[in-house]
Amino acid sequence: MTGKLLYEGKAKKIFETDHPYEVEVFYKDDATAFNGEKKGQINSKGILNNAISSLFFELLDTRGIQSHYIKKIDDRRMLVRKLKIIQIEVVVRNIAAGSLSQRLGWPEGKELPGPVVEFYYKDDALGDPLINDYHVAALGLATPDELAFLASQSLKVNEILSGHLLARKVRLVDFKLEYGKSDQDILLGDEISPDTCRFWDSETNQKLDKDRFRRDLGGVEEAYQEMFDRLRG
Ligand code: UDP
Repeated sequence: MTGKLLYEGKAKKIFETDHPYEVEVFYKDDATAFNGEKKGQINSKGILNNAISSLFFELLDTRGIQSHYIKKIDDRRMLVRKLKIIQIEVVVRNIAAGSLSQRLGWPEGKELPGPVVEFYYKDDALGDPLINDYHVAALGLATPDELAFLASQSLKVNEILSGHLLARKVRLVDFKLEYGKSDQDILLGDEISPDTCRFWDSETNQKLDKDRFRRDLGGVEEAYQEMFDRLRG
């Protein structure tokens, strides 16, 4: 039985369950971009993101990366451990794109010499600004050890997902992760989906992610479906 609505975000709703340490995530079809300025709907996105995130969390679990994921309940719902979210978005990049290309003037598609980790302050009113370890300390968002853990864990996730995706002819360009605390443990949270990653076909560089929506490229639902089909194998 789905309980009380605890929180509604841009792409998901969180519901209480009978268990105090577990919540239900409901994946919506709503899509936003540019800090909420662009709004729309992507048919079946909630179903596909729930399915794709579930596959990724299951894969990561087999490789020793703990997350909030417990199980997929149905098409649009996932059961997860309740977390106190750390207000830092961790972005890992392998190939220049998006805001990195704008910031440094690097053309989209430029291979980086090694993965680049970035931290953003999770604050909608400020538009999620880029921050460094000094800002994290000044804002009291995490201790230095915790921040080091977020970076190293995110690099491990990058290794695992990059290899898994390349075997499915997809380049993992970049992605965003969020973490939270459950007792003293820091667990990976949120979702891992075409909403939060850039996926490019490894042969054609065709975009298979939310950039199709952000940039009005068309074929948005088809791209999400294609990602699910490749991951399902
Ligand atoms: N990203 C995200 N949520 C955000 C910002 C970024 O999931 O609020 C993801 C985005 O999908 C991409 C990566 O993080 O895979 C890097 O995004 P970037 O900084 O290039 O920002 P964007 O171009 O999306 O504004």
